[in-house]
Amino acid sequence: MSNETHSAAPAANFIKNIIEADLAAGKHAQRRWAGRPGPAADHAAAPLDPARIRTRFPPEPNGYLHFGHAKSILLNFGLAKQYGGRCHLRFDDTNPEKEEQEYVDSIVDSVQWLGCSWQIGDKGGENNRYYASDYFDWMFAFAEYLISAGHAYVDSQSAEEMRANRGTLTQPGKDSPYRNRSVAENQDLFQRMRAGEFADGAHILRAKIDMAAPNINLRDPAIYRIRHATHHNTGDKWCVYPMYTYAHPIEDALECITHSICTLEFEDQRPFYDWLLARLAEGGLVQRPLPQQIEFSRLNLTYIVLSKRKLIQLVDEKHVSGWDDPRMPTLVGARRRGYSPDGFKLFVERIGVSKNDSLIDYVLFEDAQREVMNESDQRRIAVLDPLKLIIDNYPASQFEDCQAPNHPLHPELGERTMPFGRELWIEAEDFQEVPEKGFRRLFPGNKARLRYGYVVECTGCDKDTDGKVIAVHCTYLPETKSGTPGADSVKVKGNLHWVSAAHAYPAEIRLFDRLFSVPAPGARREGDAPDLERDFLDDLNLASKTIITAQLESSLKDAQPEQRFQFERHGYFVADRIDSQPGRPVFNRTVTLKDSWGKEN
Ligand code: ATP
Ligand code: MG
Repeated sequence: MSNETHSAAPAANFIKNIIEADLAAGKHAQRRWAGRPGPAADHAAAPLDPARIRTRFPPEPNGYLHFGHAKSILLNFGLAKQYGGRCHLRFDDTNPEKEEQEYVDSIVDSVQWLGCSWQIGDKGGENNRYYASDYFDWMFAFAEYLISAGHAYVDSQSAEEMRANRGTLTQPGKDSPYRNRSVAENQDLFQRMRAGEFADGAHILRAKIDMAAPNINLRDPAIYRIRHATHHNTGDKWCVYPMYTYAHPIEDALECITHSICTLEFEDQRPFYDWLLARLAEGGLVQRPLPQQIEFSRLNLTYIVLSKRKLIQLVDEKHVSGWDDPRMPTLVGARRRGYSPDGFKLFVERIGVSKNDSLIDYVLFEDAQREVMNESDQRRIAVLDPLKLIIDNYPASQFEDCQAPNHPLHPELGERTMPFGRELWIEAEDFQEVPEKGFRRLFPGNKARLRYGYVVECTGCDKDTDGKVIAVHCTYLPETKSGTPGADSVKVKGNLHWVSAAHAYPAEIRLFDRLFSVPAPGARREGDAPDLERDFLDDLNLASKTIITAQLESSLKDAQPEQRFQFERHGYFVADRIDSQPGRPVFNRTVTLKDSWGKEN
């Protein structure tokens, strides 16, 4: 694993090179598209495909999408957009046992949240959302064709026998005793498999390729199995189901996909992908040119886990509040946390695609988010750890307006009014009775600026019986109001934010830190005993969530769910999309202003 370095320009992209070469050569120019998926015959009389390329994002609806999927989504939809093509959202729901509607709905939401669309034109246009299970009839018919052409046979070995006869990386496999069954016998058995005459595992349909192939995936891979299970879409229509490695190339071909982009673990499957589609094209069942499988390396990030199994464990064992816990590296979690879809786009552009396994520093992700939010988010004031500041020479019943810009980079966004009065809330850390070296904010005898307000001089503090500071006293310098000619008449080095105590609004704020305290949760570390096995749960950061009550400037009271702001000096915060309501805001901290990880710990 290597660390990829930060770069501002979009990284070079070998996949774009392939697409551009194909477009230049006119490889797909004669491809036809019937407006919906189908075998070659359905497309034969159809017009030429207006889409120059077709890609797809094919999630299995057996879990929530995570940051890794975001890379794949943005890559596939992004390429289609860039080259005037289409990207299909295809639910790869061929496995009857695992899928659920809840996951389908959530995947749809997350892909849309990232700004990607499978819909072309208005209603009645092309709606490229598909389900692999809609293709079961074709997949079955294609298997019948393979049998008739002598490319598939029904094997009746037990699972153990098949495993033993598969061979190893260094030793060839052994032919099954059933390998030379006649076409007629295979046809009969396959129909009876479908009719439900046999128990799960009694027979299996295998491609007939080569048991001595160096690539184990070509040693007569299984293509159809018996599984007496109810499928969420097809119900009890089937008791035989296609294997993933058989189904996936067919799904691509039926949908006229041109570039089938997947992660590197499928590299060894590519020869079977090509073999299968070549056989089906010979039989006239799928249209040429065939889709091309292209692999890239998975996204891995420090301080998080992206394995479905581990994410499920975090939820099931209640280490987090649910799939959308703002600390979860799921897209529903990211949304609730307040991360920006544009921040995902910038991040994915920056890291690029390659075939090298890499572990990306989480800071790169956060930096991309900060960069987008700095540009997009309006500024507001919140005091997270409130301490009372009393301005002794300011009249008790008097208030006046101060003007604060909504966005320093965008004056066109205007200003808002912040009431100023005798009692304010400031951050407790902005006062030190006995200042540390270099401390420039409030301490007795020192002057500092109340941002957008006045320069004040600290005169002392009140303490409770335990010696805890409960209020700070100061006097203000009336000629120094921000925005007036006298603003610069007194030079100060410290600058602090504040809200009027009479107007401020107390609200719950949730501060999040990394869910794991080490870069590679669960990985062995230097000095570990040889037999030590680590559990990723032992690396959970137990202080990853803190709930505080902050004092907010009054304009934040009516924040809409999912509205995000920069709270000056503190970072970016979003009104929680579930728990926050206008009038009763609850904020999540999305990310701090600067990377503080490692400095505090
Ligand atoms: P499973 O083990 O259940 O197959 P999966 O993470 O591969 O888990 P899928 O629903 O099959 O989940 O994934 C859909 C698509 O997302 C696939 O094309 C897959 O290659 C891609 N994908 C999954 N994880 C990552 C990742 N970490 N980086 C980039 N792409 C990913
Ligand atoms: Mg997968």
